[in-house]
Amino acid sequence: MTKFLSFDIGGTKLSYAIVDEKGKICSGIHKKSTPKTVEELFFMLCQITNENEGQFDYVSFATAGAVNLENTLVRSSTPNMPEGYRNLDFSRVSKSNIFVENDANAAAWGEYKKGAARGYKNIIVITLGTGIGGGIIINRKLLRGKSGKAGEVGSIKIHTDAVRECTCHNFDCWEAYASGTGMKETIRRLAKIRPSFRKGVYRNARVEDITTIDLIKSAQRGDEFAKEVFETWQHHVALGIISLVNIFDPEIVVLSGGMGEVVDCKKLEKEVNHNIVVDPVKIVPAELKNNAGMVGAALLAYENLELHEDNRI
Ligand SMILES: [Zn+2]
Repeated sequence: MTKFLSFDIGGTKLSYAIVDEKGKICSGIHKKSTPKTVEELFFMLCQITNENEGQFDYVSFATAGAVNLENTLVRSSTPNMPEGYRNLDFSRVSKSNIFVENDANAAAWGEYKKGAARGYKNIIVITLGTGIGGGIIINRKLLRGKSGKAGEVGSIKIHTDAVRECTCHNFDCWEAYASGTGMKETIRRLAKIRPSFRKGVYRNARVEDITTIDLIKSAQRGDEFAKEVFETWQHHVALGIISLVNIFDPEIVVLSGGMGEVVDCKKLEKEVNHNIVVDPVKIVPAELKNNAGMVGAALLAYENLELHEDNRI
């Protein structure tokens, strides 16, 4: 049995566990805060691999940022990662061979092999959180593109009029509407023009203090303003999925991430299927949730290992 020490490294949290070649987690799942500097992060990763020495054969990483085609390093980082993260030399973390994959791609592979997309061949996994990530699997293969950066679904455009600036400094990316950050912007914009804002639970609130969690709870309790924000946000989620489904014609779309959990999948599926020209698609919530990245990175590493008889991973 081949075992992997598998990491999921995000901007705020880092988790790790031992995962076997079948995708089973065979240790506790450990969580830590991601250190603020790349030196501290490197030190932490070395320390963890040392502590677990003898319990794994290879090390796999699911990480924020774009990963090179060789699955050895991060080519471009995201603003929430420590400065200089792209210079982190993963191969120096352990004496064992390493495998690196983008976190959304790894999560997609995890859901395909062990989660909500088991048994399907054409799959889109969308991570809705503070931002939007995506992994696309076509005919059982992860779509990586010419540079390893394919699947950046958060950057597709859903407007043409420079309405909202995105964190990537371009305008009208899907992420600027359908992420948690996008929902907050919808709150801000609708609060200015809807009298319902001052008639419900937010009559004394400051708009900048309203969190997405708070908004979702208020919508569930029936506040008119919160319901309109939520419906608008969910419509924005649908717009991106409609484009993706028309292009890739998948059997299933899986929604993961904190914001993915609050989507009404049945309602979304209805709106999407009403607006596409390809055959109907299923939209379902993720099953592996926070473990998808760790499990997917280990399983992709194993796949890669099998492809290379010299055991290069
Ligand atoms: Zn953008």
